[in-house]
Amino acid sequence: PAAERLNFIEVAIQKDLESGRFSGVQTRFPPEPNGYLHIGHAKSICLNFSLAKKYNGACNLRFDDTNPSKEETEYVDSIKDDIRWLGFNWDNLHFASDYFDQLYEWAVQLIRSGDAYVCDLDSEQTRLYRGTVTEPGKNSPTRDRSVEENLDLFARMKAGEFPEGSHTLRAKIDMASPNLNLRDPVMYRIMKAHHHRTGDTWKIYPMYDWAHGESDSLEKITFSICTLEFENHRPLYDWFCKKLEIHHPRQIEFARLNMTYTVMSKRKLLDLVTAKHVSGWDDPRLPTIVGLRRRGYTPESIRDFCEDIGVAKFNSTIDVVKLENAVRTHLNKVAERRMAVLDPVKLTLTNWPEGKVEMMEAVNNPEDPAAGTRQVPFSGTLYIEREDFREEAPRKYFRLKKGGAVRLRYACIIDCHDVVKDEAGNVVEILCTYDEDTLSGAGKSDRKCKGTIHWVSAEHAAEVPLRLYDRLFSDEKPESVKDGGSYLDSLNPDSLQETTAMVEPALLDAEVGDRVQFERTGYFCVDPDSVPGKPVFNRTVGLRDSWGK
Ligand code: ATP
Ligand code: MG
Ligand code: MG
Repeated sequence: PAAERLNFIEVAIQKDLESGRFSGVQTRFPPEPNGYLHIGHAKSICLNFSLAKKYNGACNLRFDDTNPSKEETEYVDSIKDDIRWLGFNWDNLHFASDYFDQLYEWAVQLIRSGDAYVCDLDSEQTRLYRGTVTEPGKNSPTRDRSVEENLDLFARMKAGEFPEGSHTLRAKIDMASPNLNLRDPVMYRIMKAHHHRTGDTWKIYPMYDWAHGESDSLEKITFSICTLEFENHRPLYDWFCKKLEIHHPRQIEFARLNMTYTVMSKRKLLDLVTAKHVSGWDDPRLPTIVGLRRRGYTPESIRDFCEDIGVAKFNSTIDVVKLENAVRTHLNKVAERRMAVLDPVKLTLTNWPEGKVEMMEAVNNPEDPAAGTRQVPFSGTLYIEREDFREEAPRKYFRLKKGGAVRLRYACIIDCHDVVKDEAGNVVEILCTYDEDTLSGAGKSDRKCKGTIHWVSAEHAAEVPLRLYDRLFSDEKPESVKDGGSYLDSLNPDSLQETTAMVEPALLDAEVGDRVQFERTGYFCVDPDSVPGKPVFNRTVGLRDSWGK
């Protein structure tokens, strides 16, 4: 078989499997439950779960819930939901908070071996003592406390005897290290906060660098995949595992996903939600999984997108058009077609028998014969798109013009002979005749016509609400702002346009979550705000990239 192209993570995995460092693959997705997941997380999810699958291994879901002040059960539930919706199932479910006792014991072990100490500096002093990239740090005045004193103080920190900020537990490494993460990093801080799972049991909480690698180790993770910001933390990750002589996973870093016209950090997303710039975490303009889902994205399209962009070792910004193309490609295959007129103008067939209604057979999905056909009512009074008609049009205009002809999809060819205007001179009605010989199935005519347009029968059509979404930010990179500016400055004031459409009756049966293509217009999805018989449609994406260069 042809040699498979491996990405750099797979190369590292193969190497460790061949050398026998690890005998299998165990990965994990470790979200902090402090917000909803976004498309960046989806990239990490796809990566971790796919690698586990590819190497017949396992992938855990672990909630990194070590910071009680920002975490909530609502987020835990939404994260589980999103992962399942994306199509993945974790092999084991864990919470870092389940490891608090073990972490405490290991901290005591490091105190005993002289590798950790209780520091009395407050957070500001700790920062000053740390030094800078160009300047070495200074030892904490309490760095050389005896083991006994450290054990006593640490136990009393745990018991809640001291106020917040008065003490920390720090690893004793090297205050002159060129890597600031190794300058006696804090392992524990005092926090008298209520934790969503451990309640008020703990008065001290572990820092990320202390808890993360040790949680990985406890779960026998082999490849701890994280984003590039943690590259400088790897020496610390390794230091802890070595000192404790515990199972030692390999940390591998990849570039986080950034995307144009949006922001991706949970903090900024939370700000947008709380300041009501959007309707909630599931606002269809947000890059959250719940937002994309409400917008009409399919799990397949998000997985395809993540696969397509691949993994890299350097940060870059992905054009959101790639994400939009992914959903277009998938919906083109699976979404049924329907007719809807967004900006209707009345069209009358002057030679159509009064009161006659004919059912026209329409193909549900030309990409999928199994989707079958449906009947669409046709009559002498129709609506077509205003932009599909011009009173006077250039020669290459193949839609309807006065004195011209066009084919009505699934119906027949019509010829336009006149228009009716209001006092202001606007066309309010288009008068046409239909060519009976061209009726679908009549088989009487081989008359050709360059343009085909969609339509709905006026008396059968229903008016439904539409929400047309555009990008939330007008700036390609909303976060790269000048001094004093904010990413909020480039919020697009027209990112949501509420309007209505006249739709064929079959669309009234659409249920929440259904995705359809409005022929010639775009892909739409039924919003949860709908009630039975009264669907509200969100535009997922236009048919073509209307923003493209
Ligand atoms: P944010 O900065 O948006 O709050 P985070 O990194 O703090 O994200 P976590 O809950 O800690 O969020 O992340 C869980 C996992 O998802 C981590 O392994 C992290 O590396 C990964 N992840 C987060 N954001 C991205 C992104 N934009 N691209 C790829 N992976 C990401
Ligand atoms: Mg985080
Ligand atoms: Mg973060």
